[in-house]
Amino acid sequence: MTKVLISGASVAGPVLAYWLKRYGFEPTVVERAPALRHSLGGHAIDLFGPAMEVAERMGLLTEVYAARTGTKTMTMYRPGRPPIDADVDRLAAGISSRHVEIMRGELTKLLYDASADDVEYIFGDSIASLDDDGEGVDVTFEQGEPRRFDLVIGADGLHSNVRRLAFGPEASYLKYLGGYLAVYTVPNYLGLDGQMLVHPAIGKLVGTYPVHQTGQARALFLWRRPEPLSYDYRDVDQQKDLLRQEFAGSGWEVPKLFSYLDEAEDFYLDSISQITLDHWHRGRVALVGDAGYSPGPAVGGGTSLAMVTAYVLAGELASYADPVAGLRAYEDQVRDFVLENRKVGPSMMKALVPTSKAGVWLTVHALHLINKLPTGLQNLVTRQSLGFAKALDSIELKDYQPSKVG
Ligand SMILES: Cc1cc2nc3c(=O)[nH]c(=O)nc-3n(C[C@H](O)[C@H](O)[C@H](O)COP(=O)(O)OP(=O)(O)OC[C@H]3O[C@@H](n4cnc5c(N)ncnc54)[C@H](O)[C@@H]3O)c2cc1C
Repeated sequence: MTKVLISGASVAGPVLAYWLKRYGFEPTVVERAPALRHSLGGHAIDLFGPAMEVAERMGLLTEVYAARTGTKTMTMYRPGRPPIDADVDRLAAGISSRHVEIMRGELTKLLYDASADDVEYIFGDSIASLDDDGEGVDVTFEQGEPRRFDLVIGADGLHSNVRRLAFGPEASYLKYLGGYLAVYTVPNYLGLDGQMLVHPAIGKLVGTYPVHQTGQARALFLWRRPEPLSYDYRDVDQQKDLLRQEFAGSGWEVPKLFSYLDEAEDFYLDSISQITLDHWHRGRVALVGDAGYSPGPAVGGGTSLAMVTAYVLAGELASYADPVAGLRAYEDQVRDFVLENRKVGPSMMKALVPTSKAGVWLTVHALHLINKLPTGLQNLVTRQSLGFAKALDSIELKDYQPSKVG
């Protein structure tokens, strides 16, 4: 049986493990976190058309729908004018034929549960070294004993460890999109129910949305910055200070949201950056999901990309007797989809975080218009104002009938 080591147990990792196991491979998943992330932790993510199709093929559609965040309305605030309410489902319909918003932790839990019975999961460890001799890969771990695998796949996110080990330092293919994002938990002090609030300004966007399962809410900040910030990624207090400096003097709900910043235990801050590699395997080591082609956190539909590409990778591996031929076929299958989706992040940044007063006006008025038009025209305006055609739907999923088992 072909032994496949997968680094990362979030979205791409468990989807890949599930399908590989089904096709007769022997997957092992190693995850750096000591346990599965809390199912209600993290941020809200979107599953669009083909990713919903993958969930359906995994028999998870009912569970995915049941776990929806329930956000129905996006309320956009405008200085000196009444706020505008937009129907979230109608907005999403302009991007994809199907859409569900779900907390990332809940999705991970569903994907893990679907695969955990017959896949080996190792938590609290990380790959320390990889040695691909052309016939297999010798792997050492930070904690566990060395092992040999036929293939190693990095599904370990934007700052992938496998990518660093096999493709070199990330600076050479991390493309900064000119902004940052921060997210953390706050009490639902506004009593939000099925409603996300956003406040756009020049170069800045603040939002808050409820997490109905916990009774709490999240604060979300996006802002533009020509040059990347310099900070210690382990120093959360320093990062909180950077956020405070960036939004100093801001009105609306910002002072109140900041009053919960000190106590936030799940504070997250990162640059909005893409991975721009053009090849996703070297010998017997390959990348999938954010590790290979993050379109930019919060602006690019990375979760759908991760689910879809993991499905394709497993299917292509199962279609070839030679695993390296399977990896090549995987690259060919996902290339156009990945490149199309690379355009989404910059467009979305432009729409969400405009750089001028006119840009803010356009964003607000596009929303206003979308809300008032009949559905067909709404879809058109959504696509026009975001500047990309249905990139997330631009892949036809094969119904893989593996010719090779394991
Ligand atoms: C704040 C925020 C908001 C977002 N909003 C959206 C959204 O609205 N819509 C959307 O579609 N996407 C959104 N995204 C992006 C989305 O979360 C990712 O695209 C998606 O989770 C990618 O899945 P993945 O499995 O490829 O990687 P990740 O989800 O990043 O998972 C990587 C996994 O690898 C593990 N790992 C890391 N290093 C190691 C190591 N050394 N060894 C072993 N394991 C390791 C991590 O712990 C993690 O479990 C958002 C991201 C962020 C940060």
